[in-house]
This record gives sequence, C-alpha cells and structure tokens, in this order.
Amino acid sequence: MIQHMQNFPLRVSEIIDYAALQHPDRKIFGRSIEGPIIETNWRDIQKDAKKFAAALIDLGVIKGDVVGVMAWNTPRQLSVWYGIPGAGAVNHTLNPRLFADQLVYIINHAEDRFLMVDFDLLPIIEDIIDQLTTVEKIIVMTDRSHMPDSKINDLLCYEELIADQPDDFNWITGDENEACGICYTSGTTGDPKGVVYTHRSNTLHALSAVAPDMLDVSSNDRIMPVVPLFHANGWSIAYAAPMVGASMVMPGRDMTPVGLFEMLELGVTFTAAVPTIWMQMLQHLDDNNLRLPTLERVIIGGASCPRSVIDKFQTKYGVQVLHAWGMTEMSPLGTVCSFKPEVMALDHEGRLDVQGTVGHAPFMINLKITDDAGNDLPWDGESQGRLLTKGAAVVQRYHKSDTDAVDADGWFDTGDVATINTNGYVRITDRSKDVIKSGGEWISSIELENCAVGHPLVAEAAAIGIPHPKWDERPILVIVAAGQKPDVAEIMALMVNKFAKWQLPDDIIFMDEIPHTATGKISKLLLRQKLADQGYELPP
Ligand code: AMP
Repeated sequence: MIQHMQNFPLRVSEIIDYAALQHPDRKIFGRSIEGPIIETNWRDIQKDAKKFAAALIDLGVIKGDVVGVMAWNTPRQLSVWYGIPGAGAVNHTLNPRLFADQLVYIINHAEDRFLMVDFDLLPIIEDIIDQLTTVEKIIVMTDRSHMPDSKINDLLCYEELIADQPDDFNWITGDENEACGICYTSGTTGDPKGVVYTHRSNTLHALSAVAPDMLDVSSNDRIMPVVPLFHANGWSIAYAAPMVGASMVMPGRDMTPVGLFEMLELGVTFTAAVPTIWMQMLQHLDDNNLRLPTLERVIIGGASCPRSVIDKFQTKYGVQVLHAWGMTEMSPLGTVCSFKPEVMALDHEGRLDVQGTVGHAPFMINLKITDDAGNDLPWDGESQGRLLTKGAAVVQRYHKSDTDAVDADGWFDTGDVATINTNGYVRITDRSKDVIKSGGEWISSIELENCAVGHPLVAEAAAIGIPHPKWDERPILVIVAAGQKPDVAEIMALMVNKFAKWQLPDDIIFMDEIPHTATGKISKLLLRQKLADQGYELPP
C-alpha cells in the first residue's frame, strides 16, 4: 500500500523556528562573557542564528563542514547552536577543561574547519594553534570592543561578522540523517571517541526528553542548564527548551554557588547539573539561610547523586529531584527517576529509596542487563549485570571507526553495571572497570561512596578496590573532608547498618583532593596512580 503521509525531515532548525513562531517573546536571560546579565528572546535568538548561518555560508562553509565551539552557556551560544546546523555544518562542542593534547586530537580528528571561542578561552586555543592541522579561521564570540590582543592573526569578530547579514536566511535543508553535532567522550583510557548526532536523533531525543515522565518541561518553565552545552550534548536542554517554548537562563562561566544563586533568582523553575555543583550549592544555601522560591525541579546526573543531597533538596528546600543517568553515546539521556504510580503509592522513605535508582527509560530507549557470557538477566532488582542499550538516539559507530560499536543484535554496551527491578527502575552500581571484586563477589563502589557522603563532614568520597592476595581485591574509601576532619568511627557506623561485613572498606583514608576528569567525574585511574605514587598499602 502506498503511504500518503508527508515526508517531513526531522531537522533541528524546525525546533528554533517553532520557538520563534509560537513563543517569540519568551525571555532568555544570560550572564554574558563581557560581564552584564542580558535579556533576549527566542525571536532574536533565531534571528542571530540565521545571520550567523548566512555568515558561515559567506565564509565558504559547505554541507558537512565541522565547526568547533568552545564556549560557556550564554544566549550567544544558543544562536551558534542553531546557526551551525542551519548552515548545513556540524557543531563540534569543545570542552575547555580537556588536556591540551586531547583538544588537539579531537579538533584534528573531527577536522574542524572553523573554531568559535569565547574571548576568555582564547589562550587555550593560542597554546595549541600550531598543532591544529585543519582549522582555517577562528571566530571570537564577542563584539569589537572586547576582542583580545592575540598572537593569532586574522581573528574574526562574531558580532561584526553577523552585523550586516540578513535575518531571514533560508536554512540549508537536507536529509534528517545528516550529521548535526559531534561530541567526543571523555574516555579515561585511549583516545577520545567521537559520537556524531544526526538532525533526526537530536530531534527524537529532545521529543522524548520533554515528556512528562522525563524532564516534564513546558512553556511555563524557565530552564537553566548549569551543565555546559559542551558536556554530553548539553543533556539535550538546548533542544528541549525551545521545543516546548520554555524561557531560559544561561548562567555564563560563573559556576560558583554565589554566581549560580544570582541566576536562579531570575525565576528559574527547572535546572540541571552534576551532583558536585548541587552539594556546593546546598552548603551555600545552608550557610547563608537562603531559599529557592521559584525552583520546582532539578535534574541531577552525570554521576551518582547521594541520598543526602536528594533528601535535603526535597525536604528542606521543596525542590523535586530527578535523578538521571545517561551518556554521550545516548545523546545523552537514558533514564530519569520520575515516579510511576507504583512509586507514588510509597511513603516518603520508600520514595527516597527509589530515588537512589536512576529511574526508568522512556519510549525509544531499550535496556537490558546481561551476565559476562551475554545471557539476559532478570529484572528482579537483585541480579547485577552489564547494562546494554539500543534506541533511535544511541550511537551505532564512533566517528571514523571501521567497525560498529554495537553487537550483532544492535545492542551497545554502556560500560555500566546495574540492576533493574520489576518496575523497570535501574540502579547503577558501578562502571564495569570500577566494580570491586572481593572473594568472587561484587561490591558497589557507588553505594559505599553515597553512604559515606551522608556524613555531614564528608565533602567527597571515592571507593576503590586494592589488590589483595587472598580476596583478589578489597575496598578502601578515600575521603575529602568538608572543613573539619570527620571521625572514621562515625563513618564506619553509618556503613555497618547498610552493608554486609565483607563489603565494608578495609581502610578509610583522607586526601585534600580527589582527582577528577575534564567532565568533573572522579578519576579512579588517577586516584589509583596517586595512591601507588604514595606507596599506599592495605592495613594488615
Ligand atoms: P559521559 O558520557 O561523560 O556523560 O559519562 C557517562 C557515564 O557517567 C555513564 O556511563 C555512567 O558511568 C556515569 N553516570 C552518568 N549518570 C550517572 C548516575 N546518575 N549515576 C551513576 N553514574 C552515572
């Protein structure tokens, strides 16, 4: 039978066009890199995106060219976010916190033709410019008066570039499966790997992200992505917000609790960041007796969120927490801990228990857990296995790889270890390479860490396995104190009720700082190195 429905390509330009048409005056606030907090709206974001797309075409950009962007979350960044794919090019997000050699690798590997950079980040590019093999021009995202002095000749000024361009540029059109963005995984070992999102995958992913059981956002929300757009596709928020016509607050580069609180006070109802940001924010709120009158929901992911953080946000500050899990390869949202009716029916403590899971998957994300031999494990909340996924916004193959990243049946191994319960709620227990194997059993490093962080004087905790002649590995806990040093016996007392004796750490040690990756996760690789350098040995 011939079908007669329209062939409507899912292109991200449709998203910004929708916002500009249906929600033109919805406010977008932002802390500009130049300093002041500015105000704009979707109409003007779209106009600037069109001007920028036109400017890119004038610069000679052709379909499929890659444009690297190293920028903080600002309104200008939103115009760039849509201007690049609107010109048919591919938006390559660059994390300024990567090591210089990783940046050189990913810029050369993705073959960026143009680089966009906030002016305060230009020194990072200056340091590596001699090693970049494909970059032709650098565009500094500011106006003429803020253009920095630089050893790089011929820098282009963004505001000058777009000033005289038409604001009615016709987006470059094409197939929905064309590349739209590229994001490299942080990769603790080996070279970073590029995930190329398509117009279709980004659109479908955002459609599933805005749903009630996911982010549940609408035009009545004011959304602040604290998570930088250069992390894991910006958690899809720069697509999800205009897709529903939400108002936005872009916090700029100031990630301090004071700076973020100032932005939250602009009427933010929904915000998103990794747990460490919120731990600092809660401390700041407590210390200064502050409240969050407009904030309704906060999505926390990227690393496991301790129960104490969830509880405090909800009980003391009246902000609902959505614990989420995902990864760059999944565009990135995989699960969100919203409440199915079975969970709604539980009491306060019961719901908090569930919030220790990362929730359930939406439509279009398929999940399963398997044992090491690849056999499916039951969804009983007990069986731990490798977490595999497939879906419309999950990677098939890394950029320029010769082989697929999925198995013969299309499943992608997330590298995480998890249980799934009868309600479909997923508990992430570890990265497969971080799981602590003691006497043939697995000990969850995440659960040990979350328990330790429940002590008010523990700022951060990392559990790792140390080789042991009899048990293979034994867990130890490394702790960063929040000011005053906590009593080891008190931390142990928190754990004895929650863990079997053989799961308890053999040692608790203190460090001034635990090493992190460029995306803010604890780097167990560097931590193990640090302990080895210090000649650490398990107590006898
Ligand atoms: P990235 O691609 O850099 O965003 O890293 C993805 C990885 O972060 C996942 O595979 C998990 O190991 C980890 N991760 C993300 N969210 C969570 C979470 N809520 N709990 C535990 N681990 C998480």
